[in-house]
Amino acid sequence: MQATRAIIKTKKDESAGKLLMKLDQMGVTARITKNEPEAIVLAEGQIDEGEIKSMPEVAQLTKVKAPFPLVSREWSKKDSIVEIAPGIAVGGGNVLIIAGPCAVEGEEQIVKTAQSIKDSGATALRGGAYKPRTSPYSFQGLGAEGLALLSGAKKATGLPIVTEVMTPEDIDFMLPHADILQVGSRNMQNFSLLKALGKVDKPVLLKRGMMATIDEWLQAAEYIMAGGNFNVILCERGIRSFEKRTRNTLDLNAVPLVKSLSHLPIIVDPSHGTGKSELVPSMSLAALAAGADGLIVEVHPNPKEAVSDGDQSLDFEQFGDLMKSVKRLLSIMPGKVLEGSKCSVAA
Ligand code: PEP
Ligand code: MN
Repeated sequence: MQATRAIIKTKKDESAGKLLMKLDQMGVTARITKNEPEAIVLAEGQIDEGEIKSMPEVAQLTKVKAPFPLVSREWSKKDSIVEIAPGIAVGGGNVLIIAGPCAVEGEEQIVKTAQSIKDSGATALRGGAYKPRTSPYSFQGLGAEGLALLSGAKKATGLPIVTEVMTPEDIDFMLPHADILQVGSRNMQNFSLLKALGKVDKPVLLKRGMMATIDEWLQAAEYIMAGGNFNVILCERGIRSFEKRTRNTLDLNAVPLVKSLSHLPIIVDPSHGTGKSELVPSMSLAALAAGADGLIVEVHPNPKEAVSDGDQSLDFEQFGDLMKSVKRLLSIMPGKVLEGSKCSVAA
């Protein structure tokens, strides 16, 4: 018999420890990936399906061929829905529109942006406090001050916050300020960061590495799920190609392909995907038409003055126009709901 992988769901109130012992006796390696509400066990070896299924601890066994078993559609047929905040989710028809500046630059900038994107119908606010910059001499972000400003913008608007985490050491400090922790393209294979995020119970937005294949990207997502955090949202943000007219080549093939390979929600970043604000509206609509579960779009009160990524940022009016088109498009797509209308201002 060939060595295979299977995902085993235990019955509620049955001991996963006992199951692990039995599998060990059969020569099958097994590890618990998640314990609540029932254990999800990843087993590897010569899986005797009939014998394992007959064990009293076992509720379900699924053999998986993909190199990213927990991420795969083979294991979980239904679209995963990731809860961001009360009443706001992404996946399974729930469309999440995240907008905001590349970097948090100051109070007025972030609060005004939050109010404007909310009025236009965005679901969540983005803004980098820790910026991964190609040059060490470029603006590195406001750090802790930026996080506090994001929390202020959330208080003013009720919008959940999406912000990038660059190192495992920053996670605990960032948790009170972030509703979604973003892993940037340059960190997609920062395995210690991915492992640490596996232990967190907040959603993670995993951007595709600019030179990563889809299999590498989905295996990066597997790192987070293998640690026990099943709240993973994928983000296609463009890959490097020979084309120099655009900053990246936005790989929209990834949307339907990832949907067939994985149950995880996938959103698209047309800002980094193109590098040009004038291309953002068309590529946003194309992404949603291709089946994306949402967008993350850079918006700045005055893109010409932005400290980073001004060329690809929309101003408030341009974003407002985009949202009108997004709403029109979603209204003719069966089963799609624009999230966010339910978010309220904190007391
Ligand atoms: C960003 O979102 O501002 C960013 C740095 O994106 P990426 O990691 O996709 O380059
Ligand atoms: Mn940016």
